[in-house]
Amino acid sequence: MDNDCIFCKINAGLIPANIVFRSNHCFVIEDISPKAPVHILIIPKVHVKSLSGIPSSNDSLSADIFDTASKIANSKNLNGHGYRLVINQGPDAGQTVEHMHVHLLGGKVLGEMG
Ligand code: 5GP
Ligand code: ZN
Repeated sequence: MDNDCIFCKINAGLIPANIVFRSNHCFVIEDISPKAPVHILIIPKVHVKSLSGIPSSNDSLSADIFDTASKIANSKNLNGHGYRLVINQGPDAGQTVEHMHVHLLGGKVLGEMG
């Protein structure tokens, strides 16, 4: 836990948020400022600053992130229409919270990337 991190505080119950799902390694919340009708964040419970902070040996965390994303997409009935997973990594990508997370966006036709 990083005491200055918004997502660590949410996971610890110190900041209110609607945690919609918990897996072994992740928790899932709705984005406070949604960019699509479905905008969910899949967040490792452990404070990992960036993708490169996930040890390559930790394949259970990596697998859990994708497994959780797939489960959430299923639960939102997004498989037919599709959805997008996004990781904003670092300043060029506009990362604002330095605790690695995956955005799951769907429920509309999403614009081009880039
Ligand atoms: P990033 O820009 O780092 O990829 O994404 C951070 C995301 O976290 C943003 O989409 C932002 O709206 C969301 N966010 C920031 N603070 C909070 C919060 O306190 N609660 C929730 N639910 N989402 C947050
Ligand atoms: Zn954190």
